[in-house]
Amino acid sequence: MQLKEQLFQTTQTRFGCAPDQCDDRQLYEALLILTRRMAQDRPTPKGERKLYYFSAEFLMGKLLSNNLLALGLHDEVKALLADLGRDLGVIESMEPEPSLGNGGLGRLAACFLDSIAALGLPGDGVGLNYHYGLFKQKFDQGRQTEVPDPWMEADSWLIPTGISFDVPFGGFTLKAVLYDIAIPGANNGYANRLHLFDVAQPADAPWVGIDFDKGDIAHRLTSFLYPDDSDEAGRLLRVYQQYFMVSAGAQLILSELEGRGYALNTLADHVAIQINDTHPSMVIPELIRLLTGRGMSFDEALDQVRRTCAYTNHTILAEALEKWPLSFIEKVAPGIVPVIRELDRRMKGAHPDPRVAIIDGENRVHMAHMDIHCGYSVNGVAALHTEILKNSELKPFCDIYPEKFNNKTNGVTLRRWLEACDPELAALIDSCIGPDWRRDAKKLEKLLDFQEDGAVLDKLLEVKQHNKNQLCRVLWATQGIEIDPQSVFDIQVKRLHEYKRQQMNALYVIHKYLEIKAGKLPEQPVTVLFGAKAAPAYVMAKHIIHLILCLQKLIDSDPQVRPWLRVAMVENYNVTWAERLIPACDISEQISLASKEASGTGNMKFMANGAVTLGTLDGANVEIAQLVGEDNIYTFGRHSDEVIGLYKGGEPDGRAYRPLDCYHRPAVEKLVDFIVSPELLAIGDPASLSALWRDMKYKDWFMALLDVEDYIAAKDRCLKDYGDRRAWAKKMLVNIAKSGYFSSDRTIEQYNQDIWKLK
Ligand SMILES: *Cc1c(COP(=O)(O)O)cnc(C)c1O
Repeated sequence: MQLKEQLFQTTQTRFGCAPDQCDDRQLYEALLILTRRMAQDRPTPKGERKLYYFSAEFLMGKLLSNNLLALGLHDEVKALLADLGRDLGVIESMEPEPSLGNGGLGRLAACFLDSIAALGLPGDGVGLNYHYGLFKQKFDQGRQTEVPDPWMEADSWLIPTGISFDVPFGGFTLKAVLYDIAIPGANNGYANRLHLFDVAQPADAPWVGIDFDKGDIAHRLTSFLYPDDSDEAGRLLRVYQQYFMVSAGAQLILSELEGRGYALNTLADHVAIQINDTHPSMVIPELIRLLTGRGMSFDEALDQVRRTCAYTNHTILAEALEKWPLSFIEKVAPGIVPVIRELDRRMKGAHPDPRVAIIDGENRVHMAHMDIHCGYSVNGVAALHTEILKNSELKPFCDIYPEKFNNKTNGVTLRRWLEACDPELAALIDSCIGPDWRRDAKKLEKLLDFQEDGAVLDKLLEVKQHNKNQLCRVLWATQGIEIDPQSVFDIQVKRLHEYKRQQMNALYVIHKYLEIKAGKLPEQPVTVLFGAKAAPAYVMAKHIIHLILCLQKLIDSDPQVRPWLRVAMVENYNVTWAERLIPACDISEQISLASKEASGTGNMKFMANGAVTLGTLDGANVEIAQLVGEDNIYTFGRHSDEVIGLYKGGEPDGRAYRPLDCYHRPAVEKLVDFIVSPELLAIGDPASLSALWRDMKYKDWFMALLDVEDYIAAKDRCLKDYGDRRAWAKKMLVNIAKSGYFSSDRTIEQYNQDIWKLK
């Protein structure tokens, strides 16, 4: 049946009217139903071995146009709507964004599902169906407040499966009910699944705060996503969530294995499990518990699990490596405690070094240690990150199991992060090199032939200007933010964390402000845009947001500064905002303290959209710099080995780094002290500003003061070079051309070749 007739039928059945009589909401629902069914009806890819990608987070973003693209229906639907005088963009604005992730880690999982399906590999995601995703951020009097974000509507992408499993907690059993989201592969006729488990009787009221009454677990376990992306404050609920996810997931795996007609002792031949960070680590003891419960010996079960499970490490921030008190696990999941104890006993027997123990001297279970001992692969997510893991953070493990360690540099799906979010640029690329890059991102390199083509470079600048104009309109219409589309768009969007150093960017703003006040105008008018959520309990992150919002207010009301410098913080940064901001960016801020950002993926999205990176040699920035060459990136700051050295060997806090020495440089002191200047104190909360000032001056754990002068110099060079428009356009072109390496299709091909071996 023609798409047009299907749409007609759907709106008739559901709303009793033809499409041209529907409002935007009804058209969205009709398209959702149609698209969901078409994705669901596709066959799943076949193969001897099937992957299960376990992750506590899947930050999917809106799915309508993404799925239409994958189904090959995007242009047809767009035209069909245009015939009705409607706009697909407007229809899609009806879709709520499922924010089932905090940031990079969850978004990576979503990109991976897209690529696994696009490559036609048999691989499903396994996670939790949080009813309230990450909180919605509102700014109120210069501060972040958090509002619950109910993303699930009566009709959503979720497909009830009728499948459920019993999860045995200490003292009670809970039913885990399975919902699926179909993941259509781009133009290949296949679809995989994202499996999301939920409690049978979820509470319907939002759950504010993270205190909880354990009697509520049955109704509230999937209530909300933990708002921290890198530190776990030892929360019992988190352990409940994790065990619920892995127990149900492990039971699903075994039932699918048997459903495919395979014996339990062939598990490793037919299943690969990727453990995305340590949140799903309890799948290891849970699988052993289930297998031994069905009559397999412990030795055999461990052997199967060891050939099935692979672990991805995402961070070297010590506070983010999960260590659960054994007493927590005893309370939540007593069934796996004997397994964990036995694993610990065996590993201690073979490797007495206390640094590699599963259970430490304080009776805490080190989840990563269990993963490394009991899995067959450990991977980092960028070349530098993997080297740091091997040489320092996980060195004792690497000495025992050198063959397990490998690198898989992250990637992003260019279907969402270029084709869908930047159609004008995609069309320009097509006009230069044809459409093959859409299937094979490496082909973007053919753009290098156009470096001297003035017409193409001018067109590239036009597309960027178009995207900037569009962002200006949306910012004005939705948030009342007014910025100059002719200014340089300098953008830092990512979770708020001290190691990502938004505070250093704020010091740059102060620097420019003071220069302009003193009569020294910048090379270009510049707009510094931020977008960032702070974890609700992360006090210092909230101070930094407050500082940025104070600077925004100060500059907004200063007619001398406004024409040259604007600051704005976009409220509620999420995937949808990323899709608008990234195509409009000139300068991509990737300024984490070297050695702290495992990879970053925002850096890759910006690059693919023709932004030039201003960054430290951290995470995947190192690989970006190698690919584009030093003429096409601005790097600055101390290198990772130097930074790692500064964290050692000194007094009084164990570090050789002394923030006061940096502070006392006159150029730095006046920037830091401006945080508590009369101008800012008049606008903001003195207690918050003073706390931030004190922290930066006396502690500065992530060494913003160490790099700030170098940073300012590099950014000023950027602004100067921006003035030569042709030369800048060439840098943009090289960045786009080289971004093919960061397609998650490449990443997934490497995972498959080296770890999963699905085909
Ligand atoms: C890509 C992305 C991130 C990760 O950004 P980094 O700069 O790598 O930290 C976080 N949030 C959203 C919404 C994203 O799309």
